Amino acid sequence: MTEFEKRRIDEYRRQGLGYIKISQELNIPVGTIKSYCRRNKASSPQIDDKHYCRYCGKAVEQTTGRKEKKFCSDACRMKWWNSNRDKVDHRALRKRNCLFCGSEFTAYSTSAKKYCSHSCYIAFRFGGGSRE
Ligand SMILES: [Zn+2]
Ligand SMILES: [Zn+2]
Repeated sequence: MTEFEKRRIDEYRRQGLGYIKISQELNIPVGTIKSYCRRNKASSPQIDDKHYCRYCGKAVEQTTGRKEKKFCSDACRMKWWNSNRDKVDHRALRKRNCLFCGSEFTAYSTSAKKYCSHSCYIAFRFGGGSRE
């Protein structure tokens, strides 16, 4: 196998291509590619398990079986959310109906808001409407 082919294999592996696909692409027997990858595994980092910080691009160690970590640190998470706030907020905005008066209002999907206004909240909590 030439150096060029080896590089191509590494590249395809990084892109997540399977052995068969790579063998078709490069016209190399599957067995050759498999044994190359096996031999090469120890020296090259386990790319498949690596995730990179969305903010700074640093590799983030993942804990198997846990939720995917998208940031290397809380600081990066905060910075990312701050710089993407517009996008994020827009996506997270949901229409809801006030539990008390039924009128429609918008709230972030993360918020627990159930009423269009504070007075509706008060009215709902403390027994139905204004008592004159
Ligand atoms: Zn980071
Ligand atoms: Zn209301």
